[in-house]
Order: sequence, then C-alpha cells, then structure tokens
Amino acid sequence: MPVEASLIEILACPACHAPLADRPAPATPAADAPADGVAGPESELVCTSGDCGLAYPVRDGIPVLLVDEARRPA
Ligand SMILES: [Zn+2]
Repeated sequence: MPVEASLIEILACPACHAPLADRPAPATPAADAPADGVAGPESELVCTSGDCGLAYPVRDGIPVLLVDEARRPA
C-alpha cells in the first residue's frame, strides 16, 4: 500500500527535518528472507538530505519515522 503523496509532503525527517521521498524498499536477498512469513517493509521514506539520507520503513502503509528504526545509508 503506497503512502499518500499528500502525507509525504507534510512529513519530515525526524533526525534533520529535511523532506522525505517515497521509494520502493530494496529487495530482500532470498537467503535472508524470513522463514516465518513476516514480510519486510514494502517501501521506504528516504531523507532527501545528502548529509543524513536515513531510510524509514513503511509497514502496512504506515511510515515508521523513528531514527532507531531507520536504515542507515550504505
Ligand atoms: Zn534526515
């Protein structure tokens, strides 16, 4: 379920307050796929700041804007 564009527009990165951009989550490698059937996030909200760049998971269409849950840029 995609996050509504109108919602993304009012959201900001909790770490640096930069705007966020919606993008599909990177595919999980088959070897790392969870055996219990729990799917990973279907998309991510990525901080648009080049200095920050944290990626926040979207679970069941709900953005999880927690720094502790964010994926650090590689
Ligand atoms: Zn940020």
